[in-house]
Amino acid sequence: MPQNFTPDQRRALAARVNYYRDLGIYDFYRRATDVARPPSAGDNDPTDHDAVIIAASSTIAPNLPEKVATDPAAALRIIREDLGDCTRCKLHKQGRKQIVFGVGNPEAELMFIGEGPGADEDQQGEPFVGRAGQLLNKMIEAMGLKRPDVYIANVVKCRPPGNRTPERDECETCMPFLMRQVETINPKVIVALGAVAAKNLLQINASMGELRSRSYDFRGAKLFVTYHPAFLLRDPRQKSEAWKDLQQVMKYLGLKVPAKPRE
Ligand code: URA
Repeated sequence: MPQNFTPDQRRALAARVNYYRDLGIYDFYRRATDVARPPSAGDNDPTDHDAVIIAASSTIAPNLPEKVATDPAAALRIIREDLGDCTRCKLHKQGRKQIVFGVGNPEAELMFIGEGPGADEDQQGEPFVGRAGQLLNKMIEAMGLKRPDVYIANVVKCRPPGNRTPERDECETCMPFLMRQVETINPKVIVALGAVAAKNLLQINASMGELRSRSYDFRGAKLFVTYHPAFLLRDPRQKSEAWKDLQQVMKYLGLKVPAKPRE
């Protein structure tokens, strides 16, 4: 690796390499033009390194990214560009209006991951903006935070028809992009909202009781599981259990934990 990479560039590069690993690509080479190029005035310009690393398999997967960003906001923009007008899984032809990429602070300490966009999210292009989203906002505020402080995304970025559960192949196709978002944002804590998110992230098949009973090390973050806000709307008695989960998260983040959720 070149000595003149900054820590941010190294971090972005590591995220990129991990993304390729997720896709089963392990071999990389440097562009001959970069290797042979004499030093120039632009050498200290971070954008000069943008195209240094490319995947050896670019003929197999020609849509793979070629840029390495130097800050999380730029890295997220590149991930969004790489996603394009995605047609990688069947959800693209099952009535989705738009891709719902994710929203929030690119350097958030706390990231929420849900299942997939519903009708409101599909309409507005933003995760958790419907009734479940309003409850999620209240949960965030009960933690003493505001929605723009955190980052919110879903396991799949396109609305499954009729709000059905996303299928395995759909989740598997979309997950590498979510993993790139996670590695870019590099949150301290991830909260998986509901069993679908938890099972897809952790790759374990367990009940919500088991999933919620502990936290997990996940890509440099601590992952906690709690109930999906849509489930809490259907069964509000479980809100006190969800609050216990969020209190664990707050403790881990060093946030002041009130005895009762703030109204
Ligand atoms: N449910 C989810 O899982 N995600 C959303 O964005 C909205 C509802």
